[in-house]
Amino acid sequence: PEKASAFTGPGRRLTVLSGPSGVGKSTVVAELRRAHPEVWLSVSVTTRKPRPGETHGIEYFFAGDEEFDGLIASGELLEWAEFAGNRYGTPRTPVLEKLAAGVPTLLEIDLQGARQVRATMPEALLVFLAPPSWEELEKRLRGRGTEPEDVIARRLAAGRIEMAAEKEFDLTLVNTSVQDVCHRLIALMADAPEASRPG
Ligand code: 5GP
Repeated sequence: PEKASAFTGPGRRLTVLSGPSGVGKSTVVAELRRAHPEVWLSVSVTTRKPRPGETHGIEYFFAGDEEFDGLIASGELLEWAEFAGNRYGTPRTPVLEKLAAGVPTLLEIDLQGARQVRATMPEALLVFLAPPSWEELEKRLRGRGTEPEDVIARRLAAGRIEMAAEKEFDLTLVNTSVQDVCHRLIALMADAPEASRPG
């Protein structure tokens, strides 16, 4: 069956975590970085401006438009997408190097990026992070308080489309607690077969 392919073959250590904006992907990633240094987290390039507390090279590599154009042109991005007016992409070389070295590797990217990875690296495991409810997602997006209303509206619209894409993923994790999601993700990345069945 198609789903089993995520757990076999050379790409099995590549895991993609995606889901609507505001669902808590970056909180999960921050907890993984703290508690699971054995997992390598890809650092994306973005044209978005840094938020307070973000550091170049940690959360993102912050780039200008021309620099980003150059990365696309030279084929240096494994995938890239425009999200809410900014561009985001995954540097290809470090991901391929980590996978070649057998290091469990995680990408935290949007749905469009997840689709590209699905197409180019079909062995990757695609994990959809879902909010406990849509109301909860809207609350979290507004509660972050870092974005003006028009940006929030764009992110909510994108989130509704992203929620509908859940069925394209290998499995769903509901973000009830950050520790629980991390625990499940680590189990999946360690190839624990019982963790591959949601519910
Ligand atoms: P934020 O601006 O909130 O950090 O991220 C906005 C969205 O961009 C999130 O859904 C995040 O997962 C996504 N994103 C971050 N890095 C990448 C990337 O390299 N590629 C793609 N396709 N999406 C990304």
